[in-house]
Amino acid sequence: MKKLFLLAPLCIYVSQVSAQQMKPEETEVWEPEPVVVTPGEGTAPPSDAIVLFDGTNLDKWENEKGGKPKWKVSDGAMTVVKGSGSIHTKEVFGDCQLHVEWRTPAEVIGESQGRGNSGVFMNGSIPEGYEVQVLDSYNNRTYSNGQAASIYKQYMPLVNACKPPGVWQTYDIIYKAPVFNDDGSLKSPAYITVLQNGILVQNHVELKGNTPYIGKPKYIPPGDGPIMLQDHGNPVSYRNIWIRKL
Ligand code: MG
Repeated sequence: MKKLFLLAPLCIYVSQVSAQQMKPEETEVWEPEPVVVTPGEGTAPPSDAIVLFDGTNLDKWENEKGGKPKWKVSDGAMTVVKGSGSIHTKEVFGDCQLHVEWRTPAEVIGESQGRGNSGVFMNGSIPEGYEVQVLDSYNNRTYSNGQAASIYKQYMPLVNACKPPGVWQTYDIIYKAPVFNDDGSLKSPAYITVLQNGILVQNHVELKGNTPYIGKPKYIPPGDGPIMLQDHGNPVSYRNIWIRKL
């Protein structure tokens, strides 16, 4: 113990000397150089984003049966038409950054899970997908791991960052897809980070599997899937949806 105590100052001295002998250039990295991406003006997508919805049409989306979605498009937004079913992107995504703007109805109807319920699903289909809950959680108590910005029934949001009903809100989601072995067993889990209205609400949480209404989460391959927006019977609207593959 005494010897270790005497060695400690010597170690610090040696590391200081070797740091002094290095040139600043020796710790500079020049290659590769990061690709230039031009940020969008205001809420416009960055230059390398795939625009999934620009407010005019649902060409990048299909319904659960693979047909044309029946959701209403008007005033630069798409709105859930009750009973027409959830919609998902035609394209499949793995690791990505997703920007979504959403709005729950200004007219407050229902309570708890019945008020402004929808959802953004990564690896998006049921039962495989992982739901980032969309809900009117402004003065609307429900179970904490089912309120807006929860990873449904897995993680409650760090804070409630909700704006009032009828006001547009943003989700910025960073998604790391799970990886499966050839036999379908899990190799590495999925991770999600979510910012709601610019506020961190999910910080790189490790998903426990899918997000069912009833029962425990479990992983179902594959890890890559479409982005899905949920029809939960409430006229929730979406706009300005874009994604960057990572
Ligand atoms: Mg939902």
